[in-house]
Amino acid sequence: MADLSVRENVCLKQYSTFRTGGPARYFAEPSCEDELAGAFAFAREKGLKVFVLGNGSNCLISDRGFDGLVIRIGKLMGDISSEEGKDGLTYVTAGAGCLLSRFGNYCAEAGLEGAEFACGIPGTVGGAVFMNAGAYGREIRDIALSVRYWEDGEVKEISASECGFAYRTSLFDKKAANGESFVIISITAALPKGDKGKILSYVEELKQKRTASQPLDVPSAGSTFKRPEGHFAAKLIEDSGLKGFALDGSGAQVSPKHAGFVVNNNGTASAEDILRLIDYVSGKVYLDSGVRLEKEVRLIGEFGGEG
Ligand SMILES: Cc1cc2nc3c(=O)[nH]c(=O)nc-3n(C[C@H](O)[C@H](O)[C@H](O)COP(=O)(O)OP(=O)(O)OC[C@H]3O[C@@H](n4cnc5c(N)ncnc54)[C@H](O)[C@@H]3O)c2cc1C
Repeated sequence: MADLSVRENVCLKQYSTFRTGGPARYFAEPSCEDELAGAFAFAREKGLKVFVLGNGSNCLISDRGFDGLVIRIGKLMGDISSEEGKDGLTYVTAGAGCLLSRFGNYCAEAGLEGAEFACGIPGTVGGAVFMNAGAYGREIRDIALSVRYWEDGEVKEISASECGFAYRTSLFDKKAANGESFVIISITAALPKGDKGKILSYVEELKQKRTASQPLDVPSAGSTFKRPEGHFAAKLIEDSGLKGFALDGSGAQVSPKHAGFVVNNNGTASAEDILRLIDYVSGKVYLDSGVRLEKEVRLIGEFGGEG
């Protein structure tokens, strides 16, 4: 297992932007593909379930934690490099653990156009591929050329057109839902050169837009719900009178700044409190508008029932 260290009973709160989560029974942060293979071998040997975590910015992690092995793909697997092609495009390859903000800023600083949207999304490249993350009219599928991933001890590379990218989903989302074991390792994006000054000022403009409209100083997982076809989740929630709404004194609240975000004020709410509020909001919106809101936030671990 090379030098992989597997820790026990690691509190997951610190690895989730929602600031919820009990302990992971086992937790490992591999630094290379060999260690990744070692982590899966460890899980197989012990008969453990595996969950692959990026920056935890789209996850609501259960108060009971995760009874298995959490494999976190972080900066140890987050190298970034680029190469100029003969076709005039620049090929940027980023490890799955690279933060999207670093990836976006790297491209902007190199005068490459098209990855500006990534700068303000607080996830990793791996999480962004899994979710086909996007903002301000662009998403990962617009810039991806190919994706490498690890599966059954083998590294595979597929083109973006094989990644099944659609609104906030991908082939990888489907694989996870089918219980397949895999880890996204890296993305290669193909970007044209542009006017660096314009690119940097667009990055700044998007940053200001985000700061003005989103509760960035309060724990959350971004948009709680996907955009329902023909509607905006935040507008439906506001129309139901739920902007700023809190079900109880737990700290879970529909953000008074952006109704599309459920927030964990002061980090005092439990994951169960947050989920209760999410369910209440989607129930009320359905009663009022007939529109079903689908969670964008992913639930990790067990919820409800007996402890
Ligand atoms: C303040 C705020 C603003 C946000 N704004 C946006 C936005 O504008 N647009 C947007 O799309 N999202 C936004 N998000 C949500 C979130 O940042 C994105 O969905 C992001 O892509 C998630 O990346 P992550 O690394 O945090 O993934 P995680 O939350 O850690 O994981 C998400 C899913 O991806 C899987 N996964 C992660 N890494 C890998 C890997 N290497 N291999 C296999 N599976 C993996 C996990 O198993 C999980 O199922 C926002 C969140 C916050 C808190």
